[in-house]
Parts: sequence; C-alpha cells; structure tokens
Amino acid sequence: MTTAFRGVGDNDDQVHRLDSGKWQDQTFPRDGWRFSTFKDAGTAHIRCEMCLNARVRFAHTLVHAKVPEGILVGLMCAEALQKDDYYGPERREREYRDDLRIRNDWHKRKWKTSKIGNAYINARGFNISIWRKGAGYGVTIRVENRFEDEFVRNDPKMYMNLKEAKLGALDRLMEARAELRRQG
Ligand SMILES: [Zn+2]
Repeated sequence: MTTAFRGVGDNDDQVHRLDSGKWQDQTFPRDGWRFSTFKDAGTAHIRCEMCLNARVRFAHTLVHAKVPEGILVGLMCAEALQKDDYYGPERREREYRDDLRIRNDWHKRKWKTSKIGNAYINARGFNISIWRKGAGYGVTIRVENRFEDEFVRNDPKMYMNLKEAKLGALDRLMEARAELRRQG
C-alpha cells in the first residue's frame, strides 16, 4: 500500500504522507469533501492540515458537513480526499496559479491603440478594450473567433483615468475566465 505521495526531488517536508496526521484518525471523514477556496500562504507556506507533514504555498480549503471548521490541504491530500472529483483539485490549482501569474504580469502588458484611438489588448483569448465613456473610460471584454455564443461583457463601471481602467480590465478578465470555466 502506498503510504506517501513523493515526487522526484521532493524534500521530506513536501511529501503528503498517508500514514501521518489525520490519516491516522479513522474517525476523520475521508470523503464528502467539497472545494471552497484557495489560500495563498506566500513564501511562508503552511502545514497541510490532513497529513500534518507537507508544507504548501497553495492550500485548498475543503469543507465538510461534519467538519464545520473545514481543512486546509495541499494538492495530494486534496486529491485523496476528493476521489469522486479526482482531476478537479489539479485543474483548480493550475487555474489558480495561472490567474495569479496573469495578475502579477499585468502591469508589464503593452496596450495597443485601435484605429479609432481606443486602448486595447489581446490576452488569453480575450479582446479587452477601453473606450471614452462620458468624462471617463469604460471597459469591454469579449471572446473573438467564436462561431456561436459570442461572449461580450461591458463593465458597468466608469473609470476616471486610463490607469484605473486598465486595473478594472484585469478584474473583468478574471471574472470572464471564471465565468467561462463555470460554463465548462
Ligand atoms: Zn497533506
């Protein structure tokens, strides 16, 4: 029987041991867990609350009807606790890390200017444009090259300047990505 998930080159404190921590407690639920949110512990890392061994930066918050406080776990323990959704934890963590990368790199992005003078950017399959809206700016995000169900969302906000509009555009991009994920 496997007692630990060990990747090549993993240090001991990166291993989610299946024979340690709450895995030893037979009364602790092994199924019925549902993903809630991520917690980014940053460089501090936190101890996986299931195996109590691995230290992780990205913790999956899992919730359970019988465990009101929930549990913060790393990927391997998340997969072991969600066998009915085995590929879910890895996909969610990948998407979360990807979102984080987009956020961190956003300020480096070079915006272009359209023929009619609007700032725009093509990012991750989306076209995002900023246009004059009254005394300020509006933001529109769309997915292009879709034959059906063209995706267009207009930001209801008005931004006072281009800098704010570009930050708003990032939030709209995150929301649009989440919305399309939910649609599957
Ligand atoms: Zn663990």
